[in-house]
Amino acid sequence: MMFAAAVYLAGSILLVQTIAAQAAPPRAAASKASPAPAKPKLVVLLVVDQMRGDYVDKFLPQWTGGLKRLVEEGAWFRDAAYPYAATETCVGHSTISTGAFPATHGMVANAWWDRKEQKMVTCTADPDPNVKNIGYAGTTPKGADTAWRMAVPSFAEELKFQTSGATRIVTFSLKARAALTMAGHKADAATWFDSGAWVTSTPYGTLPFLEDPAKSHAAKADFGKTWSLSLPESAYWYGEKALGAVPPAGWELTFPHPLRGKSSVSEPDSAYFEQWASSPYADTALTELAEEAVDALKLGNSTGTDFLAIGYSPVDYVGHEFGPRSREIQDILARLDKDLGNLFAHLDENVGRGNYVVALSADHGVVPIPEDMQTTGADAGLLHLPELQDRIEKALEPFNFAKPAVARITGSDVYFALGVYEKLLHDHAAMQAVLDAALAQPGIAAVYRAEELRDRPATQSPTIRAFANSYFPGRSGDLFILPKHYWLMDSTPTGKQRSYGTGHGVPYNYDQHVPVLLMGFGIQPGQYFQPITPADIAPTFAALCGITLASRDGHVLAEALKKSAEARIPSQLARPKSVPASAPTNP
Ligand SMILES: [Zn+2]
Repeated sequence: MMFAAAVYLAGSILLVQTIAAQAAPPRAAASKASPAPAKPKLVVLLVVDQMRGDYVDKFLPQWTGGLKRLVEEGAWFRDAAYPYAATETCVGHSTISTGAFPATHGMVANAWWDRKEQKMVTCTADPDPNVKNIGYAGTTPKGADTAWRMAVPSFAEELKFQTSGATRIVTFSLKARAALTMAGHKADAATWFDSGAWVTSTPYGTLPFLEDPAKSHAAKADFGKTWSLSLPESAYWYGEKALGAVPPAGWELTFPHPLRGKSSVSEPDSAYFEQWASSPYADTALTELAEEAVDALKLGNSTGTDFLAIGYSPVDYVGHEFGPRSREIQDILARLDKDLGNLFAHLDENVGRGNYVVALSADHGVVPIPEDMQTTGADAGLLHLPELQDRIEKALEPFNFAKPAVARITGSDVYFALGVYEKLLHDHAAMQAVLDAALAQPGIAAVYRAEELRDRPATQSPTIRAFANSYFPGRSGDLFILPKHYWLMDSTPTGKQRSYGTGHGVPYNYDQHVPVLLMGFGIQPGQYFQPITPADIAPTFAALCGITLASRDGHVLAEALKKSAEARIPSQLARPKSVPASAPTNP
């Protein structure tokens, strides 16, 4: 009875509001002041690759630009974390872009073992013979990359499809797996960086205006520059040398870092491009390219809502090399803060303060360098994956399996050779031998089987839930390794030296906890402590833009939406049929 009454009441309120909205005179007639738009003119997505959630807490007092503005003028979600195990770049960007978990969007790793092809494939590798990568400024890149493996559309694609089609979609990153997943299956421009050049691919097409910036912002323009500390010496949290760091070729463990290639060569070499990608200069180039796109395309000034995304990759390269406890991380964030300050000033001027909405997040965090963590006395170390492969092969020797039984171990995922896992499922002794052998290896906390994860089972185990949220049938492995806390999975071949400092990719908070900051159109500033996930960003954008996403993995961050934005929804419902969808709701 109560339920029926409530439904009836809700229905009448909606009816009354609808009639009132239809009867009301146009708002412009009632007030001379130009009203805020009913939808944002521009949606801006910023993803800082490998930015841990706690970087904001630690370094905020040193920031004066865009990062500070996001915290002070925006909504800061302080307990945002990925609810899945595969904390990698392609996975995180796809999750932010679609509002879905990898169990839904299917981008389960940066690269996975393709059972049909019997080889590793990257998340963006497109086998369609008609697809080719295209280089700006006369370059000829290799490969063919698209977002075709992403199983659901991006927020940006849905926005363009569900509104008048006036939306322009423009993305930039150093990485294809960031630029493409943020854009979606098609876009007006999705631009990334490959072997010294800015590139895109055929389904995205080239934009003439990018030719000039591609030349002027060619990475080689920064050749000969030096990355020095930008804050006073006393401002840095950590010592001169990060313990266990592995800097790129041509750099020492201490500042300054010269951008001059392997050994001060006269022309940019491959070592130089690696140095450049690991420097603040690459962040600045990405920011300036985005600003030029705003100018050339007049983003935020059309009849629809435009979409601009930037994937800031350098923090990830620096983090892999120097670790989270380094002056390099602190300094590159201080400089990114300035770049973002410039970007927001540019948007204020060209789109209008309050006319655009920004979200900033990260695709994953990072674990401290194991050697550094060990100094605390904590149990930390390297989980050597080639050793795991040897142990599994050895465990199966008494059971008459063809060798090699393991096709590939990549990240947490163990893929068996064709037919082997099906055989193991019917041979309990052999399966037990494999599990026992894996669990006997130092650094392994647990091993899960694919059938435990399928269809996202109800479970009290946070790790099974996390692995299930990133399990996609056909693409994910057969077995899944959970390392102990602070144990880094390492694929370096036996006898070779590790070529990086640290990494990420497990369901622990240091990899899952990232910032989520929203600012601008429709956003209620403040600090929010309820647990959320970065999959909530796209549904929140969707609510602000009045569209529907296919997946319900993410949720609208309703607490961070302004009440006035919510109150506009009835007048949109009441849009007269004669008004085309592209017309602004408020005259
Ligand atoms: Zn990443």
